[in-house]
Amino acid sequence: MRHIAIIGSGPAGYYTAEAAQKLWGEDVRVDIFDMLPVPYGLIRTGVAPDHQSIKGVSKRYESTASLENVRFVGNVMIGEDISVAELQGLYDAVVLATGAPNDRPAGIPGEGLENVFGSAAFVGWYNGHPQFAKLAPNLAGKHAVVIGNGNVALDVARILTKTAAEFSGSDIVGHAFHALEKSHIEHVTILGRRGPHQIAMTPKELGELGHLVRACPRVDPADLPEEQEDLFLEPGQRKSVTHLRSYAAIPEEFRCDKPVEIEFDFFASPKAILGENGVTGIEVERTQIDADGRASGTGETYVVKADLVITAIGYKSSPIPGVPFEESAGRFANDEGRILPGLYCVGWARRGPSGTIGTNRPDGFSVVEKIAEDIGGGTGKLGRAGFDKLAEDRKLEVVTFRDWKKIEEAESARARDGSPREKFVDVDDMIKARGN
Ligand code: NAP
Repeated sequence: MRHIAIIGSGPAGYYTAEAAQKLWGEDVRVDIFDMLPVPYGLIRTGVAPDHQSIKGVSKRYESTASLENVRFVGNVMIGEDISVAELQGLYDAVVLATGAPNDRPAGIPGEGLENVFGSAAFVGWYNGHPQFAKLAPNLAGKHAVVIGNGNVALDVARILTKTAAEFSGSDIVGHAFHALEKSHIEHVTILGRRGPHQIAMTPKELGELGHLVRACPRVDPADLPEEQEDLFLEPGQRKSVTHLRSYAAIPEEFRCDKPVEIEFDFFASPKAILGENGVTGIEVERTQIDADGRASGTGETYVVKADLVITAIGYKSSPIPGVPFEESAGRFANDEGRILPGLYCVGWARRGPSGTIGTNRPDGFSVVEKIAEDIGGGTGKLGRAGFDKLAEDRKLEVVTFRDWKKIEEAESARARDGSPREKFVDVDDMIKARGN
């Protein structure tokens, strides 16, 4: 028998469990740990609430979770309730599937000002992550600035500008829904330190900005390279740039006949966030791009108005004491998923925060191959029986998958009209909702 502990119940964790089950069938026991009483990590608290079709992938994880030999072990904080070293003593393999939950700092003055948030916090707020539920961003000002040219920047800009009706069918949490309903934001600037050809935005997500009810995107035609240069781009990138061209092509007189504008400000590198207590603006330096796509400052600076700032410039994993970590890449130091004997990583904890949800599937299968090479038929450890004993001794309040199903039922019972669920945003409320 092989005993595997996976830390983190997001996509990387569940794909790894699926891979272990496919390889070993009845000859493996997998325990998937999560610090929250609810599973699915990024699917629940990262993927945008109005992207329900992407969230639908959790049905696939549910079929893995429902297998006899796969367990969800929720509400257990690794590093507090039990250490990684202790888990290594109990399981043949411990896999860190902890994602990259922390914001990368922009490293510029003013980041600590009021109403300046990283996207992990802001996205966590509108998605009901217990850690960020009380963020309370102030939406009373007119100007929001989102720093970064990736899909998260698009998510944030879109969520900031949607009408209440456009959230129908989404699972945006009530506190964010009501705050956004009263928002005064009229102008969202998306700051990119490089140009349209260097964006990290995918076509579908960029195309969505063209269909918003009360907001329209604005691109300065002068920022776009000659059209024939698009031919050198990858097809996906070319499609994204085509969206930017269509936004730039709207004649000035028809430009933004809607009350909210989402303006792309390219070649704009943030230098400082300005303000005394609250934020008032961002000092930006104009950049130029060399033949290899690298940006350098031109020395020309200007100020973009901002009452709210969200940095969407990437994430990093949380280091764990005793586990080798690559600070610059923000992930665990690993060789194709191997960290130390018996200790592995997968997903964003292995690669850093890039790729789609689906990218984690081959990752999971690949790490299980490595585990198979290393542990053979198992190393004779106690596995879940050992953990259960320890959990009892320490009086841990473990939440099972069956408990989660009760929480899920309670969340759907209290949903707003048109919404699939109203998430609990407080861990105690989640635990109460499982009954017993
Ligand atoms: P990302 O794709 O890596 O984009 C980060 C952006 O931040 C880049 O434009 C980068 O510019 C910019 N940036 C980094 N440091 C900066 C700085 N100091 N100042 C100014 N700009 C800076 O990261 P992400 O948007 O967080 O997304 C993470 C992953 O999740 C991606 O793989 C993304 O596709 C995925 N995701 C997918 C979806 C979806 O499919 N719907 C939704 C959300 C996220 P440079 O290029 O110049 O470095």
